[in-house]
Order: sequence, then structure tokens, then C-alpha cells
Amino acid sequence: MSKTRAIILVAVATTLLIATAIPARAVEDFRLDFFPHEDTESHFTNDWGDSRPGGRSHQGTDVFGEKHSAVVAVADGFVMGMKESYRAGYNIRIAHRDGWESWYMHLNNDTPGTNDGAAGAAGAFAPGLEIGMYVPAGTIIGYIGNSGNAEGGTAHTHFELHNGRRAVNPYPYLADAFERWERVRALTEAVSRGLVPV
Ligand SMILES: [Zn+2]
Repeated sequence: MSKTRAIILVAVATTLLIATAIPARAVEDFRLDFFPHEDTESHFTNDWGDSRPGGRSHQGTDVFGEKHSAVVAVADGFVMGMKESYRAGYNIRIAHRDGWESWYMHLNNDTPGTNDGAAGAAGAFAPGLEIGMYVPAGTIIGYIGNSGNAEGGTAHTHFELHNGRRAVNPYPYLADAFERWERVRALTEAVSRGLVPV
């Protein structure tokens, strides 16, 4: 084997070793302790940057899930915003550590079984939720819907992550949280079937 080839092989092996030591999609700077939906059938793709009407580009991830089911805080934080706006519909903003924020948009505004847009804030936000309130990770904050410019469309939470003034692609963070959540569910199921001694 030539010396150059040996050096290349060592470099490749080292890279592989480092790559496998780091879990896939690990995100060290911030972590979603909870997936934002309680609906286990929720699904999403990496739709960051997709084009949207008016020349805008998509600045979040659309997480599709069962209408009216719970939306939860992805990490410990404080409720910084609860409002209704033209595009985002009913939405919540939570501030976390180190300047990170999570935003949840298009929350429900319909009476169950309808698309009447008549449920108001009570259909969108969890009872008792208030601006300034501390919410531990996993706290139910609202309900999945299609308010704002998603009106009449498939229910989903437009989820955004921000660090300071910068919007960050939330997809890898969601994928990481979803994967952990699936592992916990599989383990819980195995325990409940008696496959794992406890
Ligand atoms: Zn969206």
C-alpha cells in the first residue's frame, strides 16, 4: 500500500469514528425535551425554505397532527406571547434558555367537528395559560388547528425556532425529539407487554 493511500485510509477511518461517536442529528446547542404534539401520528418533512405566496420562504416546519389534540411546550420556558394575527392565526411564543424561542402557529379556532372559526381563544389556548407564566417542558399550551392563513386547510402547527433574532431550521431538532419519543414509546410498549423485566 502506498503511503498516500495509507494516510487517506487513516483519515477516512478517523472521520468515520468521529461521525459514529456523534449520534445522528444530535443538536448540542438546544434540545426539544418534548415533541410539540401529543398526537403520536404526527408527521412532518424538512420544508424549511419552501416558497410561499408573496415571495416569502417558509421559516419553520409544518407539523401535521390531529385537529384539537394537544400542543405542548418543547422545553422549559416562559410564555412571551399569546395572540391572534392575520397570517399566523392564534399563536404562542415561548422563551427558553440562552435566547432560544419556540413559536407555535395556526392553533385551533374551530368548534369541534366544524370549520366555523368560531371557537376563539378558548379553542386555541390551554385553559389558564397566561403571558409571563412559567411552563415546564411538556405542559399543554394549546390545540392543533388551522387558523390564520391555514384556515380550511389540513390542521398543523407551524413550528418555529429562533435564537436571538435569527430563525433557525427546526427540522433537525424536531426529528431528534421525535426519534427519542418513538424510542420511549417502543420501550413503554415492551415493558407493558412484559418483554423487559422491571
Ligand atoms: Zn408553515
